[in-house]
Amino acid sequence: MIPLEDAQANVVGSVSALTPVATSLAHASGLVLAEEISASEDVPPFPNTAMDGYAVRAADTEGAPVRLHVVGELPAGRAPTIPVGAGEAIRIMTGAPMPDGADAIVMVESTEVDGDEVVINATAELGEHVRPAGGDVQAGQLVFQPGTVLTPAHIGVLASLDRHEVKCHPRPRVGVVSTGDELVEQGTLAPGQIRDSNRPMLLALLEACGCEAVNYGIARDDEAEIEARISQAADECDALLTSGAVSVGDYDFVKVVLEKLAAQRPGSSFTWSQVAIRPAKPLAFGTLGSVPVFGLPGNPVSSRVSFELFARPALRKLMGRTEVFPPRVAATAKSAMTRRPDGKLHLDRVRVWVEAGAYVCERAGFQASNVLTGMATANGLAFLPEGSGIEAGGTVEVLLLD
Ligand code: AMP
Ligand code: MG
Repeated sequence: MIPLEDAQANVVGSVSALTPVATSLAHASGLVLAEEISASEDVPPFPNTAMDGYAVRAADTEGAPVRLHVVGELPAGRAPTIPVGAGEAIRIMTGAPMPDGADAIVMVESTEVDGDEVVINATAELGEHVRPAGGDVQAGQLVFQPGTVLTPAHIGVLASLDRHEVKCHPRPRVGVVSTGDELVEQGTLAPGQIRDSNRPMLLALLEACGCEAVNYGIARDDEAEIEARISQAADECDALLTSGAVSVGDYDFVKVVLEKLAAQRPGSSFTWSQVAIRPAKPLAFGTLGSVPVFGLPGNPVSSRVSFELFARPALRKLMGRTEVFPPRVAATAKSAMTRRPDGKLHLDRVRVWVEAGAYVCERAGFQASNVLTGMATANGLAFLPEGSGIEAGGTVEVLLLD
């Protein structure tokens, strides 16, 4: 058995970021930027008002209340045509450009209209409520660095800079194949059959982590069929997840096929490991050319945990992320989490929440690798090192799942 860290290092070390492509802004949220973004113009492009109110000369408002003559009106989107002279004001709406002559805004709440005059009830300071040109971004300024994970706010900034296409690492296209003679897509079960839960779960996980998930169905426990399916998916995708057939059973063909395909394709690699963890001990991992293939275990909880520990960090690297391992937090066990020493790190499914500003956790359901309902109610994986577990009140490291 090899330690978890070694298995993770092997997997993550075997993949590299996908080649950046020009991406429309509409599809760039969540992707990693692969170019420097500099501003070609000021944002905002002109000085404008931050408030609905009156554009004035600040000096005119000294000793308020004062009366000013209203000489015009300026909604957002219109260019000023007349200046504000001494003793004058222009009614102005948020976002409208500052008219010449004006150097402050008095908010409408501090004014009263009286015919064609306005009573200003507060003294304005020079520049008050005026947003200067380039106050957000200045022309020529470096705005975003390569490696930036684009959030919706980044998308907004890019739009404000008239950038409608940016270079990003693409969303990986990831195939999912289930293996097993016992698996049924839906409907009535014949004796010995079960439903395929891994594939819908893995497809959903891929979508949730920003990949494009591609469904390659169920392959029977037949070497030729598994080979054909993996070959096709590896040709069409950036990465591939299979589940089942990676252990030491007589029909565990995924590792056989992966080893064979890796030997046939230049630049490929294959490792089959027994990782010192429970669940998810067996891991078949290969690269077919540059396409990483994760042979995840068949038991649904093992499949889910293996995805979290190996596939997710590798997919994040494909997406151009530099931080590939999600952070872990320290949590206090609400009740004892005992275990037997077996030479493995145990990854218990737990519910985590915050109490008095600190994380606490407790086991979510029965801890067996086929009991997926426990996994479904869990929002964390607790790392229980080799030993006899922890007492109630003890501290445990938890990887947050959501
Ligand atoms: P295997 O590694 O193929 O021997 O599978 C281990 C266990 O996981 C067996 O009980 C399988 O029936 C079960 N299993 C394998 N694939 C799936 C799947 N896609 N959905 C649900 N259970 C599965
Ligand atoms: Mg099987």
